[in-house]
Amino acid sequence: MAANPIAEGSAAALQDELDAINAKITKQGSLVRELKKASANADDIASAVEALRVLKIDAESLRKKKEELDPTAQFNRRSFDELILRKMFIVPSFEIHGGVKGLFDLGPPACALKAAMVDVWRKHFILAESMLEMECTCLTPEVVLKTSGHVDRFTDLMVKDPVSGECFRADKLLEDAIDELIEANPNMPTSEREGHLRIQIQADAFSPSELDEQLVKYGCKAPSGEAYGPSFPFNLMFKTSIGPEGTAVGYLRPETAQGLFVNFRRLLDANAQKMPFAAAQIGLGFRNEIAPRSGLLRVREFCMGEIEHFVNPADKSHPNFSSVASKELVLFGRDDQLGSGKTKLITVGEAVASGLVNNETLAYFMARTQLFMERIGMDPARLRFRQHLTTEMAHYACDCWDLEIQSSYGWVECVGHADRACYDLDVHSKATKTPMVATLKLDEPKEIEIAKLKLDRKSLGKTFKTDQRVVASALEALAENWADFEPIATALETEGKAIVDGFEVTNEMVTWTKAMKSVHEIKFTPSVIEPSFGMGRILYSLLEHCFYQRNADEQRCVMKFKPAVAPQKCAVLPISSGEEVNAVVDEIAAELMESDLATRVDKSTASLGRRYARSDEVGVPFAVTVDFDTLTDGTVTLRERDSTVQIRLPKSDVTRVVFDFVHGRFSWEEATAKYPVVQVKEED
Ligand code: AMP
Repeated sequence: MAANPIAEGSAAALQDELDAINAKITKQGSLVRELKKASANADDIASAVEALRVLKIDAESLRKKKEELDPTAQFNRRSFDELILRKMFIVPSFEIHGGVKGLFDLGPPACALKAAMVDVWRKHFILAESMLEMECTCLTPEVVLKTSGHVDRFTDLMVKDPVSGECFRADKLLEDAIDELIEANPNMPTSEREGHLRIQIQADAFSPSELDEQLVKYGCKAPSGEAYGPSFPFNLMFKTSIGPEGTAVGYLRPETAQGLFVNFRRLLDANAQKMPFAAAQIGLGFRNEIAPRSGLLRVREFCMGEIEHFVNPADKSHPNFSSVASKELVLFGRDDQLGSGKTKLITVGEAVASGLVNNETLAYFMARTQLFMERIGMDPARLRFRQHLTTEMAHYACDCWDLEIQSSYGWVECVGHADRACYDLDVHSKATKTPMVATLKLDEPKEIEIAKLKLDRKSLGKTFKTDQRVVASALEALAENWADFEPIATALETEGKAIVDGFEVTNEMVTWTKAMKSVHEIKFTPSVIEPSFGMGRILYSLLEHCFYQRNADEQRCVMKFKPAVAPQKCAVLPISSGEEVNAVVDEIAAELMESDLATRVDKSTASLGRRYARSDEVGVPFAVTVDFDTLTDGTVTLRERDSTVQIRLPKSDVTRVVFDFVHGRFSWEEATAKYPVVQVKEED
């Protein structure tokens, strides 16, 4: 779950500093405004303005430093942050009470953007593949998360400053220390540098004692100047109790997946027992992150979209694989991470054929994720798939690839793709003694080796009492296939006893013979291939990828949202405030909204150029202007946000044209060929 350490590195540390200064600038800016509004004493205003000026100089020099470090980051964070806050895309939660780290609220434009993005996600994955969607509860009883392993293992290693008691994520400290070391020694020999980077990339896989050793080796000191205390695991789940007695422990779910796993049997029924199939869920996940930072990228409550694709472990081909086989992806395999440090551009087909990606289904979802990102307007040049190192993967996982998106915070994991084998269904099945199996019907009957059992019910009953049937069914299930029963047979033969589902079975209870059986179906526990989307991270990255400044002018910020996801699809503006013109504005806006096209009407007295600029800031892709000619010939102008080119068309065409743009049925190029282009010089 950690982001790529190399990527986050020192750019992230500088970014943290910048974030802090930007927050101060915002506060100081509002203080200056308040003082001016209250006609305060001139000296107070002057000193507040001076303090603001100094802060801005500091921010600019930090921004320059960061740009030097990463020349690709031509991104004006201050301007971006100012826009995000001013237009209320994202605001700190509970701000007037001082806020809480790692909690953010989405304002109106971000809500609409997220809804549109989730809508595309639903169509792209759930609808296109007839997935079974569920909405499970966030409150989860302890037994479920104990079974899944989260109660014992969903932890990050934490260290404390022994003086202040402040907590830090130990792996992040190590990563930052290595970045600082490399930065401070630009002439370090390549082999030495690579050695440090290899340690850095494994930071989140070290055991507590290994990590402590590394922190000492790299001279990491707590802010108080003392050495950190020993690292220890900190569970990231929020614990609560369910019910008034306070005795039933529960947690806020850290992921949505468990709800789907525990419903597997019903889902399989709902799918008429057909395999493979996928279930999906969009909803909140909660993680008590030790050190939330990097804005929306590491928060404590976030929207996730998870898909659990259930497949026969003996056949991980995907029926639609050919539709994506020629799609090219940027892959950063584990060998390249530990070796050349370079990514490869490779088709999905080649990636599977060469064994780089473990199987077709995993690769299929990686390609679908890439297509989704392109569909919502993410910059393809800032996307890559990074394979988990073997030390990063859970012991049961076959292969994992994170889609990482590059933003001003570096490369950050936004979608995990994991082949989790049969782990999840197995653990829930064992804990609940509920079979979680699917059936493969064979075209031709097949001869298989089985164990023919003779159970001594009396002996079983005497030992296991009410559990007798559970033990008998477990033995019978294993006996269906000799390969499954063989270890039990061997244990009984050599030791006179064997453990079956936690029960000790002895020779008196069961005898067997090996036999052949003709079967028409095979039962198996499905493997799970899981793409897991962090919608908040995707939303934030999309905001960054869409942000630019027209002609490098800080006053002309633009959000180039694709029409399909733009929070508002069209602006309607009157050229003047005349009643007749306004009536046409209202008529066009009403018609657009009747067609479900979110519309922004701006009848303010600001110049037209200023009003275009305002709608650019919230990423409205089209603007209709009603002028005096409209009153005589019924035509209006329609402006496209990024080119600022305008066409003239009958007002009665507006809704259909905008609707077709939004639904990808008509392009701006086609529109400029069909309607006359008008030359307009935009001025403020
Ligand atoms: P994981 O189960 O750790 O692989 O997480 C699944 C996805 O959730 C990741 O790919 C991230 O996009 C997202 N995610 C994980 N932790 C956070 C967090 N603290 N804040 C925001 N998004 C997160």
